[in-house]
Amino acid sequence: MKCEHADELMMNYLDGVLSKDQAYQLNQHLQKCDSCVETFYAYEQIQEEFKKMSVVEVPEDFTRNVMSKINKITPQYHLEPQSCIENINGIVWGIFSILFGIGVLLVMYQQELLQFLLNNPYTASWIGQFIPTFDLLADYLVQLQHNINEVFVFVQKIMGNIKNVLIFILIVLGVVQYQIYRKEKVEI
Ligand SMILES: [Zn+2]
Repeated sequence: MKCEHADELMMNYLDGVLSKDQAYQLNQHLQKCDSCVETFYAYEQIQEEFKKMSVVEVPEDFTRNVMSKINKITPQYHLEPQSCIENINGIVWGIFSILFGIGVLLVMYQQELLQFLLNNPYTASWIGQFIPTFDLLADYLVQLQHNINEVFVFVQKIMGNIKNVLIFILIVLGVVQYQIYRKEKVEI
């Protein structure tokens, strides 16, 4: 269900004209959508305030009329798109920092990893399945090691001694992650 439709059903509920089927649908949506729950509470609160204030009996479509007027005044009232973007931001940051973290570890432990892959008989035999003869495998591994080393030398030339900078960036990413996470928590 879209949030606009949920909004419509909330109006029905507050006006006391929500059908059983609609109530079920609305419940389903509210369980998944924090933004609409927030809106729902806000509506209820406003209605409570109006009830306290009004001496005369509230007409059936009172809430709907008031809300449609309020919505016209503040069309940006719905928080849904904003919170969606924040969710996506969190995911993108998360994936980026994981990939970056793996990258940093690969750069830092390149020699150990390379050594491990070349020395480990299990890895070697696994690679051997793709290459028919052992000589070819050996040649291939030497060539591979040479190529990888060249890449690493190149990377190292660029990176120089900025491993600390990489770690610093990683920490910054972690802090940003934490801030986004905390912000989401507070908004719920
Ligand atoms: Zn919603």
